[in-house]
Amino acid sequence: MPKNILVAVAWPYANSLIHVGNITGAYLPADIYARYNRLIGNHVIMVSGSDAHGTPVAVRADALERTPLEVYEEYHLGFIELFQKLGLAYDLFTSTHTDNHFKVSQSIFLALLENKYLYTDRQEQWYMPSQKRFLPDRFIEGTCYICGYPNARGDQCDNCGNLLDASQLENPRSKIDGSTPELRETEHFYLDLGALQPAIVEFLKEREAYLRPNVLRQSLGQILAKGLHGRAITRDLDWGIPVPVEGWDGKCLYVWFEAVIGYLSAAIEWAKLEGQPHKWENWWTNPDSRAYYFIGKDNIPFHAVIWPGQLFGVGEWFGKIFNNKEGMKLMLPYDVPANEYMNMERQKISGSRNWAVWGLDFLSRYDPDPLRYYLTVNMPESKDTDWDWDDFVRRNNDELVATWGNLANRVLSFAYKHWDGHVPDPGELRAVDLEMLDRIESGFQTVGAQLEAVHLRAALADVMRLASEVNKYLDDNAPWFEIKSDKDQAAKTIYTALQAIDSLNVLFAPFLPFSSERLNFFLGHKKPLFGEQFVDSVTDSLGEHTVLRYKNSDANGSWEPGQLSAGQKLNTPSPLFKKLDPDKVEEERARLG
Ligand SMILES: [Zn+2]
Repeated sequence: MPKNILVAVAWPYANSLIHVGNITGAYLPADIYARYNRLIGNHVIMVSGSDAHGTPVAVRADALERTPLEVYEEYHLGFIELFQKLGLAYDLFTSTHTDNHFKVSQSIFLALLENKYLYTDRQEQWYMPSQKRFLPDRFIEGTCYICGYPNARGDQCDNCGNLLDASQLENPRSKIDGSTPELRETEHFYLDLGALQPAIVEFLKEREAYLRPNVLRQSLGQILAKGLHGRAITRDLDWGIPVPVEGWDGKCLYVWFEAVIGYLSAAIEWAKLEGQPHKWENWWTNPDSRAYYFIGKDNIPFHAVIWPGQLFGVGEWFGKIFNNKEGMKLMLPYDVPANEYMNMERQKISGSRNWAVWGLDFLSRYDPDPLRYYLTVNMPESKDTDWDWDDFVRRNNDELVATWGNLANRVLSFAYKHWDGHVPDPGELRAVDLEMLDRIESGFQTVGAQLEAVHLRAALADVMRLASEVNKYLDDNAPWFEIKSDKDQAAKTIYTALQAIDSLNVLFAPFLPFSSERLNFFLGHKKPLFGEQFVDSVTDSLGEHTVLRYKNSDANGSWEPGQLSAGQKLNTPSPLFKKLDPDKVEEERARLG
């Protein structure tokens, strides 16, 4: 029976552009995983949206003399444009600034309150006299009181990975203007992570066998070493979701507390847009579903510790508060395959120094599949990796173009020319042909197992290796010579190669959806492999927001060997990929910094 798979993708923060490190860190692996699951027949919803709230957006708006709403909307539309161009097929990419998300977040808050996992306390927080406002932890920089790293953010240390109590930071300074903040007292709601610790530890231990080492280290490892403590989940800020308790005007829910709730609220909004308002429950309250969270390593504690804590803490109260439903328990994450970082030409990617390759800018000069290819073979799954322009061009030319694109193009062109645009009739296949097809067929298991385990690099390397084997088969049988002496032999070879290419195209499809769709058409298939992305607009009490959606339409791709029949009409082929000029590399490097 098909499984229900929730592909939950990190929410980009609506105050900066998306670069290749963000894409390979979370968005692309999620899409590859979602496409694979659609091909094997699982019921997938892939959801995310723009993280609209919080002080960073408010601060940026001040600097630009615009409203936070205007700033968030501009970035949000840019994300949607990029995700369409890159083929990231979200079932719903929405935003946290929606009426639905406000309601769901406030219901989660009230359920936690009802279950006594929230308490209030007064704390000292950094106040900026120069800006007349409290600054959130991430806008304060100072020396980590755990490891001594001099440039720790107030909320988390990038060196030791620990979540920090910002008020204990040594030598604090504002990241906005470098001025020294002062501590002032303010009252907040706290999530009682200490009380939730046993449940969180149990959640992690149940998944210890397959969670990535970086995830375990930053969750279970940290908890066992230091224990969990209450964490403030409200802020003194008006750009955000109001605290749903009387007398708390001027404060809102902490952006991290509510943004993770987006995985749930986006599924609820998706169901509403589909016209089946209860459908989200198939993923969120169904024990046969599995939720995968695709994030970068900087977000591990929020997804592997705090979010499971929130979900456990609401117990069955969410349904009672949200829609008068009893006994509705929300599903905990199944896996959190967090990636490490990608560096840029051996330096850390830095937006402020323009040391980055920006998604939309890149796609104004290059096609999306070469980017998807390079970011997958170089994905930081177990350690940091490096974007290198020479390596990008080399892999495009030697692997994508030479090994795969040329294979498909020369076989198709040859068949097109010599068999009048049709798949040749091979008669009885030879042992060597059957052996070749068997080998490709076994790829559906081996590559599938790698994808299932979210080992995307290994999966793609396997597919490319199979493509090399078909090249070798062609060299060995040389249909270009066979055709001159014995057209029947050439027909067997070309038929076999076309079948192999048809299968390889499905194996490549989660990684290279654009070229796979074209090749699927060249091979004469009537229906596309995947559905279509489209942009929609939703009106609610907060106004109008733009969303990116996906419809299956007549998608017909399936994770099984191709079934081309002899005589099938082919369409005029053309090359799948472009060879890149190595001389362009210096031009590209000059754009950095
Ligand atoms: Zn530290």
